[in-house]
Amino acid sequence: MTADRTAVIGSGPAGAAACIALGQLGRPVLWIAPPDSMNARIGESLSPSARPLLEALGLEHVITGPEHRPANALFSCWGSDHLTERSDALRLQGPGLVLDRPAFEEQLRSAAMATDLDRQETTLEDLVAAKGQWSLQLGNGNMVSAGFVIDCSGRKAVAGRLLACQQQDDQLVAALAFLDQQDPDVAPTAATMIEAVADSWWYASLLPQRESQPPRMVIARFSDPDLQPRGLTRDRAAWQRLVGETLYIQRWIDSAGFAIGKPPNLASAATAWLEPAAGVLEGAGWAAAGDAAVAFDPLSSHGLTTALWSGRQAAIAASSAINGDRESLAVYSQKIARGVEQFRQERRQVYAREGRFRDQPFWQRRCG
Ligand SMILES: Cc1cc2nc3c(=O)[nH]c(=O)nc-3n(C[C@H](O)[C@H](O)[C@H](O)COP(=O)(O)OP(=O)(O)OC[C@H]3O[C@@H](n4cnc5c(N)ncnc54)[C@H](O)[C@@H]3O)c2cc1C
Repeated sequence: MTADRTAVIGSGPAGAAACIALGQLGRPVLWIAPPDSMNARIGESLSPSARPLLEALGLEHVITGPEHRPANALFSCWGSDHLTERSDALRLQGPGLVLDRPAFEEQLRSAAMATDLDRQETTLEDLVAAKGQWSLQLGNGNMVSAGFVIDCSGRKAVAGRLLACQQQDDQLVAALAFLDQQDPDVAPTAATMIEAVADSWWYASLLPQRESQPPRMVIARFSDPDLQPRGLTRDRAAWQRLVGETLYIQRWIDSAGFAIGKPPNLASAATAWLEPAAGVLEGAGWAAAGDAAVAFDPLSSHGLTTALWSGRQAAIAASSAINGDRESLAVYSQKIARGVEQFRQERRQVYAREGRFRDQPFWQRRCG
């Protein structure tokens, strides 16, 4: 029966969470999940608030392994020239984690695959609703159908953007690079550092070390496209110059024996969301979860927890809607909208704490 089957689009954390939650609810699932290039996965800080979300999905074991490291030390240079330390170990829920992100995603996917679902390892290309059913055109040429669709395709929101209005309130872009340690005699501090500069903010984190590999660090600069040198992804000297504008990140890279290698890759880091995040078209229900529903400025470190939370909540709302309670979709959509509003207020407050650069366009755009 395809009428009560839910198609989940996307193989990231939100897609895996939605599949697992639907499995817990005894719902048949079709997972449209392309094979990802796992090395390209970015974003490794997992907030402590992920713990109860993972527990609800029966996934508490995925963060206990040695492949992830506790995020005990967070240093920040924000609002003054001093570097201050915040200890996450003192939080009630314990410290967050710095994930081996590819390993984490593999663990989520394995858990999703362990539920009884059908999987198509391909993309969604198009979808049409008629008489309470979705017809889905897939990248492998197959045409499949489902009674409900959950879009977890990340920032692309491949289904959601056809069904709702996608809003975006900034142009934030991340330039990011992975650095390998060159000097094996230095033991680098397991820390994460955030630093504000005149036209951007930076993030650097020591990644959990993999067996027989040198220590790795990720660094990222978050700015606006017009405040970024042209051709940065091909210009190592420009990238080195930008890193050199930081007070502390440059010092940490040098003192821990890392070196700037290739120029960075770029990724959108803008805050974007769908209005509404769920609904019904021609009698067929849909919802978006994870970045497809709402993608935050990474300053929040909320991306992964929102993906896990909304993947599960969208599954619960879908299950209720399939049982005839369509109000569940409006309630889900309102929760997403409230989350967006709360985040935008908090973001303004956090950026406003940086007073040193209040005459600079990057900061004016975020504090006005
Ligand atoms: C630079 C940067 C740093 C970040 N750092 C952090 C951090 O430290 N901590 C944190 O919590 N969050 C961070 N985030 C955010 C976090 O990575 C995302 O919020 C999270 O990955 C969202 O998960 P998702 O499953 O919704 O989407 P994604 O992880 O983007 O997964 C989307 C999936 O959809 C699939 N897909 C795409 N198109 C199609 C299609 N047509 N058909 C089928 N499938 C498709 C993709 O292959 C992918 O598997 C960061 C984001 C950025 C940009």
